[in-house]
Amino acid sequence: MDLTRREAIGLLGGGALATFVGCSSGKSISPAATTWKKSVCRFCGTGCGVQLGFLDGRLVDVRGDELAHNRGLLCVKGSLLTELPKLPGRLSHPLIREKGRLRKSTWKEAMDRIASEFSGAMEKAGPSSVGFYGSGQLYTEETYTANKLFKAGLRSNNVDGNPRLCMASAAFGYVTTFGKDEPMGCYEDLDHATCYFVIGANPAECHPVLFERMRLRLGKAKLIVVDPLRTKTARRADRFLQVVPGTDLLLLNAMAHVIVEDGLVDRPFVEEHCEFEGGGNLVSYRKFLQTYAPEKVAERIGVAATRIREIAHLFATSKATMSLWTMGINQRTQGVFLNNTLNSLHLLTGQICRPGATPLSLTGQGNACGGVRDTGALSHLLPGGRLIEKAKHREEMEKLWKVPAGTIDPKPGWDATELFRAAGDGRLRALLIMGTNPMQTLPDLTHQKKKDCFVALAEPFENTRTSEIADVILPAALWVEKEGVYGQTERRYQLLEKVLDPPGEARSDLEILVDLANRLGHGKLIQARTPGEVWDEWRKISAASLYNFEGITRERLRMRRGLQWPCPDGNHPGTKRRFVGGDDPFVPKGKKVSFYGRPSGKALIHMRPYQPAPEAPTKEYPMILTTGRVLEQWHSGTITDRIVELHDTSGRGQVRVNPADARRLGIRKGDTVRLQSRFGSMTIRAVIDPAPRIGVAWASFFDAKVLINRVVADHVDPMSRQPEYKVTAVRLSKVT
Ligand code: SF4
Repeated sequence: MDLTRREAIGLLGGGALATFVGCSSGKSISPAATTWKKSVCRFCGTGCGVQLGFLDGRLVDVRGDELAHNRGLLCVKGSLLTELPKLPGRLSHPLIREKGRLRKSTWKEAMDRIASEFSGAMEKAGPSSVGFYGSGQLYTEETYTANKLFKAGLRSNNVDGNPRLCMASAAFGYVTTFGKDEPMGCYEDLDHATCYFVIGANPAECHPVLFERMRLRLGKAKLIVVDPLRTKTARRADRFLQVVPGTDLLLLNAMAHVIVEDGLVDRPFVEEHCEFEGGGNLVSYRKFLQTYAPEKVAERIGVAATRIREIAHLFATSKATMSLWTMGINQRTQGVFLNNTLNSLHLLTGQICRPGATPLSLTGQGNACGGVRDTGALSHLLPGGRLIEKAKHREEMEKLWKVPAGTIDPKPGWDATELFRAAGDGRLRALLIMGTNPMQTLPDLTHQKKKDCFVALAEPFENTRTSEIADVILPAALWVEKEGVYGQTERRYQLLEKVLDPPGEARSDLEILVDLANRLGHGKLIQARTPGEVWDEWRKISAASLYNFEGITRERLRMRRGLQWPCPDGNHPGTKRRFVGGDDPFVPKGKKVSFYGRPSGKALIHMRPYQPAPEAPTKEYPMILTTGRVLEQWHSGTITDRIVELHDTSGRGQVRVNPADARRLGIRKGDTVRLQSRFGSMTIRAVIDPAPRIGVAWASFFDAKVLINRVVADHVDPMSRQPEYKVTAVRLSKVT
């Protein structure tokens, strides 16, 4: 490819190019690298392998790693990784807030202050008055250490993180259907599928490297897309269902209805490998589905019954159907039910545990799976899929962590939204935030106020929305300025080695946690102090669970482009497809499939009734706001919005409005509009765009200046506690 970076991004902006193939970030503007080192992209859960090019110790080039699972492909964000060490606004020394202003401090003063605030809070109000809020962007070793320090050291289960906001419903969906979290499929399934069922996801923008792999198979494989927006992915679809936001459980149940009524159930598979909720059977399931006949629900979904019938048949009869989803069905008050029902469609039709046939939830963040879900660093979890509320699981972890019986508090901690409510009402008195920007990403930001809660923040950059509430800010190393393991969507762990020095006095998050553990008197508990030592401890602990990856040693990770767990010993090649005999070492010999995460070895088909979203449109708030991501920006834009090419291409945060709504409201291109919900009010520029369904407004959350989450509702799924970012009733009016 002969394009410069800027030219290529220009094409991307026009939608003419989906990905860079083997792009070396614009060779015409990069000096020639003399040495290359393998690493992993800093951004999304695709976890692309990269080769980093160095000249005289400087990072000057990047290209997709052709030996990695991404086969040399990178998207525009990955192709600009070379910019990371040069970005403006890096913090190089600790800061302490005094009389409302931040001033420079030493590490000793900053860490002493944090330790004293945490100790003071615990003395006055007990262990549950302190908490940790982490990220799917920290390294596994860092999150593992934070989880251990807080749950087994400080005895606080208030450990949560931003994966709660993006994939908790998918995790709960897997656990309640298959007994264990994490997908059973892999990216290679994309090459075998003959039908892609994409619901609530826009991989053309949010997982472009995976979408490129799908795009190459279109023609051989059908693409079905379900979304309230005609996204870039939807534009390539063979069948596109532009549904009313919040009605997709009606759709999935209607598809199940067609599958059952039209004889599309794979009865041998269901009989051998599935059981029904509440001891039911196919007859009771059929009865449950009676109210979901397509003709009964089509109007509420906003698509014709014949189209629902057609996609149900395509799903069931394709040689291999692969479902892909992200926030569209996770960020919902019925997120777990949606995940269960989607898993059920695969079980009912036998579209599972075969090459190309699998439900694969795409991960948003680079290390949400490996770093947070696997290490159990959420407020209800312990490592390896264990639950805090189960005495047996607590006892197992107390033995493995070598702490006295009864150390781990039996009461789960506060999830993300509750943790910050607690910081706002005085229940939480000291909080450590690492690697994330909750004051931009949490819902209902208008009402996020801390009260008497000390906040310490470890962050690479100055001036984020979260630094505005921090009392102490610690400069954190970024990406390859430190070493650690990332675990992405397909259970693949990959090593990122340290190849650059952090600026000034910045330290890795692991160094910060080890220092804090020492100051709080838990140095004996946190004896693993380097990334390698922590990995070895966690690797050995994993052997006592069905997540066993004892065989994924540091040495193997240095040599290979990652390994997929389970991987119980140093000779095991890793597991492409979980629960499949001959591939997964835990499947009993002679069995083709075993859902061994459940005592019966059978997966559970749930009967999940539809409930309307709490934010139904009303006369006062007649439209639905739904939020999402754009190709060029990652998460809250802390990194990507500082990269000039990405900032210039994405533009500022705007709200997209269908031309019919714009006409009705008298809104013209570029007008400033007032967006009002029950939760807040803001002004924002409008774009007239036919992509959203009539009655739907769409905005991205990357722009710190726009801060769309000021108007987004904070209703949560009662099981996963994941907020419903996708459905907020709003009113739009032109600002004159
Ligand atoms: Fe790959 Fe995601 Fe990085 Fe793009 S942002 S290069 S898709 S890991």
